[in-house]
Amino acid sequence: MTRSRKALSGREIEAEIRHFAAFGDAYRDFLARFDKERIFIEEPPEDSCGSVAAHLLEGRYLLHAFYYQLEIKACEKAVFELLELLGRRLPVRKENLGRIQSVFSSGKLDPREFVVTVFRNRGDRFLNVVREQGLEEDLATFFAVYLTRLFRVKACRHLCEDIGYFDFEDWRKGYCPACGHWPALAHVDPGNEKRTLWCLNCGTVWPFGRLGCVYCLNQEQGRMDLIGPPGASSPRIQVCHDCREYLKEVHSPIPAERFPFDACFLGTHPLDLFARGQGFVHESLLAFEADDTSREAQLLSHRMRLPWDH
Ligand SMILES: [Zn+2]
Ligand SMILES: [Zn+2]
Repeated sequence: MTRSRKALSGREIEAEIRHFAAFGDAYRDFLARFDKERIFIEEPPEDSCGSVAAHLLEGRYLLHAFYYQLEIKACEKAVFELLELLGRRLPVRKENLGRIQSVFSSGKLDPREFVVTVFRNRGDRFLNVVREQGLEEDLATFFAVYLTRLFRVKACRHLCEDIGYFDFEDWRKGYCPACGHWPALAHVDPGNEKRTLWCLNCGTVWPFGRLGCVYCLNQEQGRMDLIGPPGASSPRIQVCHDCREYLKEVHSPIPAERFPFDACFLGTHPLDLFARGQGFVHESLLAFEADDTSREAQLLSHRMRLPWDH
């Protein structure tokens, strides 16, 4: 597992992705265990989805987190199980992980309050917690996203089931139609060149035009580039010279619905470093398309870092 800032070869990146396969599998098992449990005390009333398709056509995503009341026990269990999983499977600094563990086990931070803060995209409160408790921000961010995904996956899957009649081809936005977060990775089917975006925050995948910039919707090909290790056609990074944002992309015959996105997202981190070295930026893992109630999320922009990226 490398922490070097030099650009790796395509083969070395493939090896990196394999390193993270065990985490991807363990995390999938973690989600599956909670799938059978009651994690919400209250969910939105059925009619809250009324005229949803019209909302989607206006660019409004499905999840309204304030409708959900979270189970205390599920939050507690998820916090400690995930900390254990990260310690076992990822190259995170043990003292930083231990610090997160101790603020929860000492009662200084309430697991449900923390999950609710992140689930409701309260970036201001999240940063206060990080500062007040002396947590390492990149690790706390990573932990928060993977912890809250458990709740978002379930809520978003349910919401998407309700609107089976809506064709996500009509969404045409770069942010997630289910939860509003920005994609962490794009998947390209080498057979038909179709591109699918993946939401790290809720696991939703949705189709998006092959060539445009997901952030500013720039379509001008002279203002876009695909960069990456020499000689490797995948994975690569799509960069936009208009907004300076970038998005990693991988070509794979494995359908997006079954693609091991987590291992690929983590294993291609050398490409993030490469893109940033060229002056391009990527939103924080927590960043989402903010509505009027969540402007504090702006604070979290452009900090796409993983805890071992120092
Ligand atoms: Zn999402
Ligand atoms: Zn752009």
